[in-house]
Amino acid sequence: IATPNDFRAFWMPFTANRQFKQNPRMLVGAKDMHFTASDGRQILDGTAGLWCVNAGHCRPKITEAIAQQAGELDYAPAFQMGHPKAFELANRLVDIAPEGMNHVLFTNSGSESVETALKVALAWHRARGDGSRTRLIGRERGYHGVNFGGISVGGIVANRKMFGTLLTGVDHMPHTHQPARNAFTRGQPEHGGDLASELERIVTLHDASTIAAVIVEPVAGSTGVLIPPKGYLQKLREICTRHGILLIFDEVITGYGRLGAPFAAQYYDVMPDIITTAKGLTNGVIPMGAVFVTSAIHDAFMQGPEHLIEFFHGYTYSGNPIASAAALATLDTYREEGLLTRAAELSPYWEEQLHSLKGCPHVIDIRNTGLIGAIELEPVAGEPTKRAFSAFLRAYEQGLLIRTTGDIIALSPPLIISKEQIDQLFDTLRKVLTQVD
Ligand code: PMP
Repeated sequence: IATPNDFRAFWMPFTANRQFKQNPRMLVGAKDMHFTASDGRQILDGTAGLWCVNAGHCRPKITEAIAQQAGELDYAPAFQMGHPKAFELANRLVDIAPEGMNHVLFTNSGSESVETALKVALAWHRARGDGSRTRLIGRERGYHGVNFGGISVGGIVANRKMFGTLLTGVDHMPHTHQPARNAFTRGQPEHGGDLASELERIVTLHDASTIAAVIVEPVAGSTGVLIPPKGYLQKLREICTRHGILLIFDEVITGYGRLGAPFAAQYYDVMPDIITTAKGLTNGVIPMGAVFVTSAIHDAFMQGPEHLIEFFHGYTYSGNPIASAAALATLDTYREEGLLTRAAELSPYWEEQLHSLKGCPHVIDIRNTGLIGAIELEPVAGEPTKRAFSAFLRAYEQGLLIRTTGDIIALSPPLIISKEQIDQLFDTLRKVLTQVD
């Protein structure tokens, strides 16, 4: 497969695909911190794939668990049957989850976890006899996957505008940063706590009795790494609790050690009612997601009046045995190598090296938390993605994979990265930034 013509039978409805056909970058292998490109070059993975390969690539323990499970029990119907690995996995997940998150529903992706969480929230109010709570509140610049519920509560105009009314009864809070820049603040900014009062305004406008849930990413990842200011998530929690509204944390990116604790809820010490996860659950190897709920939510479904519980939900592949085996081997790897807290140890070094790019050409802001970083570039007038994309291409040529959104470079390496590899990553980026026009 070498020429654009070879891709003729392959179609993805992304404009990126057009660009890919003009300039194909094929990956043919991966090991630990590196991809192998089709021309044989080693590419340092600065993004853990798509924020998912937290333990690094092609880890034997995980691949062996998959092979073994595939030969033992490949599939079990998700509705009428169970199998031991799904139950074992649910128990192991609850062990690392924030206190009180005692139950798990399995899905196949982050987008499905979000749909599941939104439906659970609405169904829970209904199961308690409060069917008037149907409104949902998301956030500008929020990313919650690509399905209809997710783009409805999500706040990315480009993903929403061609799909009409979407879910009705959805409001969006402004984001924690308007604009997103933090003036090179390290870690959590001090300012911005007042923005939570926007939630209060929306609640007053519609009356709390109509609102089911608020959904936010604790750290907005896909729209450019927006770090919550101190006190902001706590204030959202207080407002939701005061008004009987469920708080959903979308931890598809922040879950499984990205910040230095298993989940952002623990890292920021704020307990939501529902947590959505995927990506790092199976180290990105096999599609799987998990939604965590509190006992209060679970019990309403299990113990509430029968006539109020009409909640049908679940997927053909929920808790699939092979995915469950991959997730269990992933959790073993995280535990054995201390990866769920490694970001906390590495974070000071990461922060220091990342912020050493201050002063490089075009850099107008740098943000970080855990093992996540963002470098925001001054946009070229009228071409708001040009500079970062040019940096992406140059970095790839020089053996480094980065991710860009608008003119923001996002970084989230596998949690196994060494200090030498952190140095290499930022040395390459420093060079790249001087080469970008
Ligand atoms: N929520 C968040 C916060 C995400 O970052 C993503 C993916 N980047 C999703 C949901 C959707 O996950 P998936 O692509 O697995 O459907």
